[in-house]
Amino acid sequence: MIPDWETVRRTMIEGQLRARGIRDERVLRAMESIPREEFVPPDVRLLAYRDDPVPIGLGQTISQPYMTALMAEVLDLKGTETVLEVGAGCGYAAAVLGSLAARVIAVEIVPALAQMARDNLRRVGRDANITVISGDGSMGHALFAPYDAISVAAAAPEIPTALLEQLRDPGWLVVPVGSLDDQELRVVRKERGRTEYSVRTYCRFVPLRGGEGWQ
Ligand code: SAH
Repeated sequence: MIPDWETVRRTMIEGQLRARGIRDERVLRAMESIPREEFVPPDVRLLAYRDDPVPIGLGQTISQPYMTALMAEVLDLKGTETVLEVGAGCGYAAAVLGSLAARVIAVEIVPALAQMARDNLRRVGRDANITVISGDGSMGHALFAPYDAISVAAAAPEIPTALLEQLRDPGWLVVPVGSLDDQELRVVRKERGRTEYSVRTYCRFVPLRGGEGWQ
């Protein structure tokens, strides 16, 4: 039987997001309007709204809904920004960011996943302001830099310096940093020539490959 996805989605918004402190109404509305079930392969569709990362094949995952919401909220998007996402995976977070900002550049290192993200975004009609690039995003993507906001969906041992350089002033960057199974979600604020760092929560992402990452 096919679930009533709208009800499942609303339950996720209330139980996983609002109940845990996600307050940005634009983020909540974006996630209420995007069919997350369309972004995962058919064999895991029934798990699409689970309160955990879900495997999407090729050893990668779609992030837990709360983590996607938290990262989007941290970026404090108003609708005018150009955003870089590193690690597009299936394209779900790119869809969320695309409905909160003017433009999204989403880089994915696994070519088959980059294609999956493009297909998913087109199928749900969210591809107009999102460009999925197949390649290594650990050094950012200089062509469209600087970015008003950068979201990294894979963990690095340290914040890649190229990403700090490609962040606009003012701008927000969110990135998981740490070891393979013990990471903190770091938030970087660039403003008036100063850069401030804080830690938002603990997390566990797949490793950022290439560049200055794990290799
Ligand atoms: N944003 C996704 C989560 C993706 S998981 C979501 O919406 O749920 C992290 C992704 O980062 C994986 O697909 C992985 O292939 C990708 N990745 C890892 N290292 C990368 C790199 N250096 N450049 C671009 N993508 C990378």
